[in-house]
Amino acid sequence: MVANSHILPLETDIALDDLAAHAVAVGLPMNTPFRNTTLREVMLLKGPAGWAEFSPFPEYGPDEAARWLSATIEAGWYGWPEPVREVVPVNATVPAVAPNQVETVLARFGPVSAVKVKVAEDDVATDIARVTRVRRLLPHADIRIDANAKYTHDEAFDVITALPFLEYAEQPVPGIEPLAQLRAALRDAGSEVLIAADEAVRKETDPLAVAQAQAADLIVVKVQPLGGVRRALSVVKQAGLDAVVSSALDSSVGIAGGVALAAALPRLNHACGLATAALFSAEPATPAIANNGYLTPGPAPAPDPQLIEQLKLPRDRQLWWQQRLAETHSQLTEKA
Ligand SMILES: [Mg+2]
Repeated sequence: MVANSHILPLETDIALDDLAAHAVAVGLPMNTPFRNTTLREVMLLKGPAGWAEFSPFPEYGPDEAARWLSATIEAGWYGWPEPVREVVPVNATVPAVAPNQVETVLARFGPVSAVKVKVAEDDVATDIARVTRVRRLLPHADIRIDANAKYTHDEAFDVITALPFLEYAEQPVPGIEPLAQLRAALRDAGSEVLIAADEAVRKETDPLAVAQAQAADLIVVKVQPLGGVRRALSVVKQAGLDAVVSSALDSSVGIAGGVALAAALPRLNHACGLATAALFSAEPATPAIANNGYLTPGPAPAPDPQLIEQLKLPRDRQLWWQQRLAETHSQLTEKA
């Protein structure tokens, strides 16, 4: 992948032995299945700048994982740029649960001013019922939906026009051109719901393409998939659109990087998707739980050694993650 060479190079001169010195793979049990899993596997590493996380999803190959490792190395070996704001507003996340479970899920987050509702995993009517339930429980919250690119044009059009109070719809359809067509159709129909690009930013080689195609009003950026806080800042700057920082289902060690990015963005007009620690029932480090809907930038929390012991993955998975770290590291050093 020739991705984004005009942004910042993906390379490292940190040795694998340094990365692996304190690396341990842990499994975080989840309150609600997400991406069809109930255990989120992450590798935690410690560098001179602090704790860091390496957690590309299991199915990702070395090329994609290399960007995640670049973010890991920035966090643990270099640290992040200075924040320009003291707190970062965050949204609650409601997975694609049955509408009657919405209240229980929301209760875990405490007070929030924004809610992201996952859609496009059931039928359209259930999606509308789930979002409507959120609206009834939190009439003053900003409500956004995330379809993970899984609606057809017509499904997306129907859902978004049925929910005119939405703050924005995140990647309702796949790709850039279909997103641009949907956005144009919604504008023609008088809809004021904003369109956010997520997968189209991560998976495309050119982050400017979304802006050039007028496919979105804002972009969703994630630290690990974009290769670090500095690379993500560069993507946002070049795209010239508003940004929302989201977690890639990171543990609270990785979340600190997301908060660092959100706190360093010159402009932040929407709550961020960084309150995902509430989706885990246990973590080795102090969970990044929002305080009245806000997270505060700071160093990544240090994991508790006893909790690491409890959550440590079995030997075969440790070996799998060590192997993956080694393969991804050689991918990064080949690029150097
Ligand atoms: Mg998304």
